[in-house]
Amino acid sequence: MPSSEIHRKLTRFALRLVPELFAGNNTAALSEQYCRLPDLAMTGDPEAQRFLFERDGIQFHYLPDAPLENLYRHYRAATDGRLKRSRPFVNPHYESALAGLTHYLTLIPKLLRANRIADAMKPTGILLHVLQDNSFGIHTLEGPGGTDVFFFDRLKLWEKSPFETLCRLDCSSTPPILPRSPVSLGNSPEEAALRIYRHWCDAIRLGRTSCVKVLLAGDADISPMTAASVLLCADVLQTILELSRCRQKKAAPLPLNEFEPYEPPGRGMETDSGQSLAFPVMTEEHLLYRFPAGIFTLLSAELSLPGDGFCLFELVNNGTVVQSGKVKSGQPVKLELEFPRNECGFRFYAEQDAVGIMLKYPEVHRAVGRTCSPPRR
Ligand SMILES: [Zn+2]
Repeated sequence: MPSSEIHRKLTRFALRLVPELFAGNNTAALSEQYCRLPDLAMTGDPEAQRFLFERDGIQFHYLPDAPLENLYRHYRAATDGRLKRSRPFVNPHYESALAGLTHYLTLIPKLLRANRIADAMKPTGILLHVLQDNSFGIHTLEGPGGTDVFFFDRLKLWEKSPFETLCRLDCSSTPPILPRSPVSLGNSPEEAALRIYRHWCDAIRLGRTSCVKVLLAGDADISPMTAASVLLCADVLQTILELSRCRQKKAAPLPLNEFEPYEPPGRGMETDSGQSLAFPVMTEEHLLYRFPAGIFTLLSAELSLPGDGFCLFELVNNGTVVQSGKVKSGQPVKLELEFPRNECGFRFYAEQDAVGIMLKYPEVHRAVGRTCSPPRR
């Protein structure tokens, strides 16, 4: 839980990087007040109540965790002696985050197009706050593949509570140095929500590493965490700007690595500079995405086994198996899913020994963008 002052600083840094978004308007209310709305919701603040998104009784503020236990812990043996997973994997962080992101990335550009600038700043403040909460400080321990905020306290390795140490982290008052300028992350709210979620998860993981280094090294440098949080917020502002202006980027294919899987392989994936994905399969691993219908026309990759052995695979689209087969070492297989939607992607089964999977050129092709009415002026 970064303090109000940290939310203010991170918001000001991000707004400065995308001056065009609220050009000609005073953004002081946004960087002073609206970036605190999710915290103010706890006090019954009416503007917070008006704009704070809620799904299944969970407010878009502190998102549920995504425990990875079902990726490796619960199996039963089938009659042929093969181990099969006995429970489906659910990813509550993904579901809450995507619902909230899609809501705000639809709402804010709509308010901007209607020239309701003051109203647009309030949900913008909420969105930035939640991105900051989960990418700076103690809450980076939670979320995708994380743990609860008291985990390190339970270890009793530190004299001072790690929870309190990480709650008190402060960021610099000077803007961080960023590796690049902000970019827009999607031609539609749905595509943008998917890609922003990936960048958000990357920022959470980087922040988590920074926080653990603070605990281990005492006074570790947290500037990479600040920079990641600010760049994430600035990318989101740039995306909102371009969605509100109906500016479309050309619909070139995107590497699959631009998307966070709904269900990842249990031990994570390695990526190389060519965007290939690699991971081991001991018994069964899934690489499944959740894409809303109508966004992509094709998901493709070349499946190969860099080591010895063979492996069974299934292609899943819209929650059902549409193709299955066997891949052997030295004989790559082209995988293609047309109009990937809802639960889609791949499942892999090691028949005998563990194998290493390599997916080369994994990418999705985007559908032609929908039309959008330009802003009223
Ligand atoms: Zn908060």
